[in-house]
Amino acid sequence: MVVMTPQATQAEIDAVVARLETVRGVHAKVMPGELTTAIGALGDPEGVRALALEGMPGVDQVIPISRPYKLASRELSHHAPTVVSVDGRRVGGEETFCLIAGPCTVESRDQTLAVARAMKAGGASMLRGGAFKPRTSPFSFQGLGMPALDILREAREETGLPVVSELTDAAHADAMAEAVDVIQVGARNMQNYGLLEVVGKLGKPVLLKRGLSSTVDELLMAADYILKEGNENVMLCERGIRTFETATRFTLDLGAVPYLKLHTHLPVIVDPSHASGDRRLVEPLSRAAAAVGADGIIVEVAEDPDAALCDGPQQLYARDFQRFAEGVASHAALVGRQLA
Ligand code: PEP
Ligand code: MN
Repeated sequence: MVVMTPQATQAEIDAVVARLETVRGVHAKVMPGELTTAIGALGDPEGVRALALEGMPGVDQVIPISRPYKLASRELSHHAPTVVSVDGRRVGGEETFCLIAGPCTVESRDQTLAVARAMKAGGASMLRGGAFKPRTSPFSFQGLGMPALDILREAREETGLPVVSELTDAAHADAMAEAVDVIQVGARNMQNYGLLEVVGKLGKPVLLKRGLSSTVDELLMAADYILKEGNENVMLCERGIRTFETATRFTLDLGAVPYLKLHTHLPVIVDPSHASGDRRLVEPLSRAAAAVGADGIIVEVAEDPDAALCDGPQQLYARDFQRFAEGVASHAALVGRQLA
């Protein structure tokens, strides 16, 4: 929709219409109003965007009406919800709730296997654990790297839990695809478009986290980068965003969950651990995530969070995990979902 200024002349209106009609398949409809004239452009939103009409004489505003994401759109592409199957665990649809849990980071074989056993016993659907960590400072612990993949493989073999781990560098893509069940793209890489295309080509289920300061539409366009490579198995993750509020580490945007459920067919997971940065907030936010219709949560848990090399204050104690999982499962049951 092109809105002209009140002073726009007929010649300026005609020039905008003529310019719009240079795009194949676009029809321009002039709508004179009391004060201003609006021109609706129907067809080919990308083509219209490329015209850069904002700079033309007499143009006040160009307002996009159609949504900028395509393959992730429920309205445009896919009316039925996508159900991602991870080794038989169903994520998406309205019946299951997926509980992904584990340490922030693989620190050692003993630490990871111990927490993996507790996650299995407590009823988790999948195990999380970082091998390559995207740390804000290059001087912070960066993860064990490749040796962590062997530890995660062993944890999966022993517990049968599928493993979720983050890919930070395209150079590790094949090794990661071989070792883990779900490739996580972290908040800091949501707009690393080359990495998204690499992940799309791997054909493995993907957990795509929302960028620290990204809008929901930007998250959905990032998902389009993966989907366009033919990989349909994409799960979105709300993990908190930067706002003026500093009481919590990030602001968990729970409103994004029902919004996403409305406008995309992709499953939506919530990460209350990184959002809050405080283990005392993780259970209420997890219950809230279930109540607003999320398809699951991803939470950090450690046997000894006080000794963790990364994100200790937000990690639940493994000894509390089963009770936590039961509480969240009972909230999920209120909206008709069972643990995946
Ligand atoms: C993580 O889940 O390990 C992580 C680093 O989260 P985020 O990318 O959301 O900060
Ligand atoms: Mn972490």
